[in-house]
Amino acid sequence: MALDRNPLDRILAKDTPILVTGAGGFIGGHLVADLRRQGFSRIRAVDIKPVEHWFQAFDDTEILVLDLRDRHACRTAARGGGVVFNLACDMGGMGFIEAHKTDCMLSVLINTHLLMAAHESGCSRYLFASSACVYNGDKQCFPDSPALKEDDAYPALAEDGYGWEKLFGERLCRHYGEERGLVTRVARLHNVYGPLGAYDGGREKAPAALARKVATAKLTGGSSLEIWGDGLQTRSFTYIDDCLYGLQAIFAADYAAPINLGSAELVSIDQLADMLEEVAGLRLERSYDPSAPRGVRGRSSDNTLIRSVLNWEPSTPLRSGIARLYAWIEGELRSSGLRSS
Ligand code: NAD
Repeated sequence: MALDRNPLDRILAKDTPILVTGAGGFIGGHLVADLRRQGFSRIRAVDIKPVEHWFQAFDDTEILVLDLRDRHACRTAARGGGVVFNLACDMGGMGFIEAHKTDCMLSVLINTHLLMAAHESGCSRYLFASSACVYNGDKQCFPDSPALKEDDAYPALAEDGYGWEKLFGERLCRHYGEERGLVTRVARLHNVYGPLGAYDGGREKAPAALARKVATAKLTGGSSLEIWGDGLQTRSFTYIDDCLYGLQAIFAADYAAPINLGSAELVSIDQLADMLEEVAGLRLERSYDPSAPRGVRGRSSDNTLIRSVLNWEPSTPLRSGIARLYAWIEGELRSSGLRSS
């Protein structure tokens, strides 16, 4: 349960400049919306995408379209100091990160140049959005592998490409904190889902991809559902509202090392598909594609640390979050004109 509804109020004035990178993306868009709701008045929203492709954009925030792999662009973004939420990253679901390891790793330039620029500009605090993909693959070999504790990132055997980029980013944050005095915080996000994110085009993650497939079948009279892998692989999925609260609480906390930010509700992909079918009110015939990207065999978040640091952990039941995601995706497909021909 959240004890502190707006954790940033403890450390930030409402007119503190706040830089959100990746603001055109899923989590960044929701974060900017939430900061506005709280009354923060100097938000700078930055993304590489043209603004018409942002999931959320607001007239009363400063919007900059910049490629943050570039050091000068990072200086422009961090100009004026303040605080930074770095959510920018070239990433996607398993289908994307397995096929784009170079692109994922090049995001190391974003966090590196942004840390340098934030330090130069006198920023006081910096949060890096890391990932459960930093964890050692050998500790995720079974559907019932134990939930991952923060120490399980070492000895390092991260997800190839994306996971190594995040692990390097974490360590650079640590050294900027220890040696250069920039207060850095690291949240290790576990599978965040919710409305206003990617659900097609190749970057979508399992919950949105499955919701799109189920909604498409419902709207077009389809009868089958293709699942990547054998459906027995397990994950925990974190609803966006929990992610937003956790990011801000970790940002404000007096704790510098990486913290898991993830739900501990473990389900198999088949169980996730069951939930989506139940929400949509139909049953589909499943086919399994063992050759498709499917990631590790079992992964969930051990929340001992976040409970002890924040006295809180993500708690939105998957069933209720999935219902909200599904309703949004079905609505999007309906308004795009998708129907049975
Ligand atoms: P997203 O892809 O929706 O948002 C990332 C944004 O970064 C995109 O809008 C993209 O255009 C932008 N970006 C990419 N390269 C850029 C560049 N060179 N310069 C400026 N902007 C650039 O992803 P998201 O789900 O919102 O994730 C936000 C952060 O959280 C990322 O760092 C991601 O790695 C991390 N994360 C997300 C999840 C998840 O399940 N969504 C899990 C673990 C970690």
